[in-house]
Amino acid sequence: MEKGLLIILSGPSGVGKGTIRKHIMRDKSISLSYSISMTTRSPREKEKDGVDYYFVSEEEFQRNIDEDNFLEWAEFVGHRYGTPKSHVEDLRNKGINVFLEIEVNGASQVLAKAKDDRVVSIFLMPPSLKALEDRIRKRRTEDEELIQARLAKGRSEMNLADHYQYVVINTRVKKAAQEIVDIIKSRL
Ligand code: 5GP
Repeated sequence: MEKGLLIILSGPSGVGKGTIRKHIMRDKSISLSYSISMTTRSPREKEKDGVDYYFVSEEEFQRNIDEDNFLEWAEFVGHRYGTPKSHVEDLRNKGINVFLEIEVNGASQVLAKAKDDRVVSIFLMPPSLKALEDRIRKRRTEDEELIQARLAKGRSEMNLADHYQYVVINTRVKKAAQEIVDIIKSRL
């Protein structure tokens, strides 16, 4: 059986990866399994443990690093985020396509390691810097200092696009999601 695809969606902070991911996961025309990450940050309103993330303590996260349980992990504005490795591998070995939505440092780790041609890397670009700032501000779940940190990070992260196989510009959510679905289908 052919191994499932590993699809990596990344891009600068605030570009709208999460929103696009939800659209793609709802698309009935392709079968994808979303890899739920582990994080040390606290849940936002409406977020559920085991659905949006596995919310864990610093100690538990560290234990998982020590036990080499992550495919990748990264620190992102004060918190740590990681992709549990065994789950991803088990699914792919069963032929199931796995979808990761991760920030750029973690994505670089996966791209450096994964040399097989069943990896699909997609970089989501904002239409402009202004659009990126507007998105980050509209979220309004964070204080100004954190917003500034995310903005600065987002700007520098935009330079990494050429490390990816595909670049999709997030002008409209539906359109960008459809483009990504089409990319995935072309690689199935
Ligand atoms: P948020 O706190 O807004 O949910 O996520 C912050 C950033 O962490 C987003 O860019 C998101 O894509 C990224 N992220 C979520 N899970 C993971 C993960 O497992 N690994 C890495 N490297 N980044 C992640």
